[in-house]
Amino acid sequence: MTTWAIVVAAGRGERFGRPKQFERLAGRRVVDWALDDARDACDGVVLVVPPGHDEPSGPRGWLGEVPVVVGGDSRSESVRRGLASVPEDAEVIVVHDAARPAAGVGLFRAVIDAVRAGADGAVPGVAVVDTVKRVDGDVVVETLDRRTLVAVQTPQAFRASALRSAHAAAAEATDDAALVERAGGKVVVVPGHLANRKITEPGDLDAIEQALG
Ligand code: C5P
Repeated sequence: MTTWAIVVAAGRGERFGRPKQFERLAGRRVVDWALDDARDACDGVVLVVPPGHDEPSGPRGWLGEVPVVVGGDSRSESVRRGLASVPEDAEVIVVHDAARPAAGVGLFRAVIDAVRAGADGAVPGVAVVDTVKRVDGDVVVETLDRRTLVAVQTPQAFRASALRSAHAAAAEATDDAALVERAGGKVVVVPGHLANRKITEPGDLDAIEQALG
């Protein structure tokens, strides 16, 4: 089955303070770790970058031979712009956050295999170790049963037609699986990795560098 990846790297890094995907991490840029995993696991890769980073004189010059497109104001919009550049004959599409450089090619293959086995989507999940409460402002409304919860990561793989139709309504969500779920698709969970954390704060770079090292 032809498999393509969309690596979304068009965030502004508001919590981080600057675009974190272009920081140095263990001798390379953050985004290059995700690109390498995606290239190893898939037949093709589309990279989604912020405005200005798609210029031939800019970072694209040393990104290699992947198609580069400019992202949108939201993560979902950036994925949709990437989707428009994925060839129509792709049967499985993987979406991955450039901000998770330690995913590893094995995790890409695990989610792809789950879709090839028949799921509409597959996401990596890790157990929730903290007690999680739903709140209204600073008032607790409910304590959730953490045995029924997982914290979900990327890469997330999808049957291409399921992902394309889930995005057709231009809806917004914090991950792509949520859109496929809303459309009635069956999304399964594969074991994620604790090391596959998302860079959010500057201090996260050191922890991830150790994991990669
Ligand atoms: O903001 P957050 O950390 O959830 O971003 C997750 C991923 O989505 C990052 O790799 C970021 O670069 C990407 N993103 C994007 N376009 C946006 C917002 C985020 O490609 N407008």
